[in-house]
Amino acid sequence: MSRRPPHTVTLIPGDGIGPEVMAAAVRVLTATGIPFEWETQQAGASAIGEHGTALPEKVLESIRKNKLALKGPTETPVGTGHRSVHVELRIQLDLYANLRPVKSLPGVKSRYEDVDLVVVRENTEDLYSGLEHVVVPGVVESLKIITEKASTRIARFAFDYSRAHSRKKVIAVHKANIMKLSDGLFLDCCRKVAKEYADVAYDEMIVDNTCMQLVLDPSRFDVLLLENLYGDIVSDLCAGLVGGLGIVPGANLGVRHAIFEAVHGTAPDIAGKNLANPLAAVLSGVLLLRHVGQRRAADSIDRAVSRLLREGRHRTRDLGGRATTSAVRDRLIALL
Ligand code: NAD
Repeated sequence: MSRRPPHTVTLIPGDGIGPEVMAAAVRVLTATGIPFEWETQQAGASAIGEHGTALPEKVLESIRKNKLALKGPTETPVGTGHRSVHVELRIQLDLYANLRPVKSLPGVKSRYEDVDLVVVRENTEDLYSGLEHVVVPGVVESLKIITEKASTRIARFAFDYSRAHSRKKVIAVHKANIMKLSDGLFLDCCRKVAKEYADVAYDEMIVDNTCMQLVLDPSRFDVLLLENLYGDIVSDLCAGLVGGLGIVPGANLGVRHAIFEAVHGTAPDIAGKNLANPLAAVLSGVLLLRHVGQRRAADSIDRAVSRLLREGRHRTRDLGGRATTSAVRDRLIALL
């Protein structure tokens, strides 16, 4: 038995493919030998039957206590029904920074081989504030909230992250030519913060042009700094550049708490079939390990993922293979 105190982590299996990929991630993390205590909590559509709500209060209590969570994707009904659990968690726990490293992985077929960029997305405001109403029948207003406080702290996060990880350039992405006040304020804050970091280059790019430039040549991007909605859309675009949602991890970070979750959703088309790629969930676990200072264990999973992909025999369908979720999990554990 290890004498080190365990890391107590709130585990949210979530909906759709969530339980499958999260179970795989937990098995891989545990196989590193780092002691974990997993506190399982139900949230999402699967929690409604038992708890009457998609986000029971005890889920928030558990994360507030443990300060750490590993979360599977949760389903949000389109155009009706409950508010998004992941958006609610980010707002309630003030997890203001959404960090999504997007990197080409060995052996994964995609259009590019040299992508290594980081999406830093503001996580608490913008059009995700959930403030919309019917003005008169046939006219709906959604409020895009941009504040100096949130824009400044996400900009500072992007520059601090760049400095700590030897990143060279932050590009603030905007549409301030049209939304002169809201995106204009976001840019003003980014510019002010950029001045404090002479060692990190700074530039700005309009969001539509950013999408085209990313598709043309992603290797020219380093750190992207975006508001909430642009960050959401550009994250999926970036995932597509390196082989899809099955391999891109993510972290939601605040001052006190952190929730690690992949970029992908519940993938209802493949849920319950043992077909989902567990690597994005596993790599989100790697971000958790680094967050708690377990660098060696994180490195060893990263190496195992690279070897598994190079070998090529254990790839799920999204990566052009035929392996199941559990086969990928078992091979990864064997390679640790
Ligand atoms: P999605 O990410 O679930 O699926 C998009 C496509 O990618 C699908 O074809 C799916 O099969 C594929 N895919 C995603 N993850 C995969 C994996 N690990 N392995 C293999 N293939 C994978 O996006 P969607 O269909 O737009 O959303 C479905 C649901 O997920 C919605 O209810 C949405 O609100 C929710 N969602 C939740 C989160 C979250 O909890 N953080 C994030 C995004 C979407």
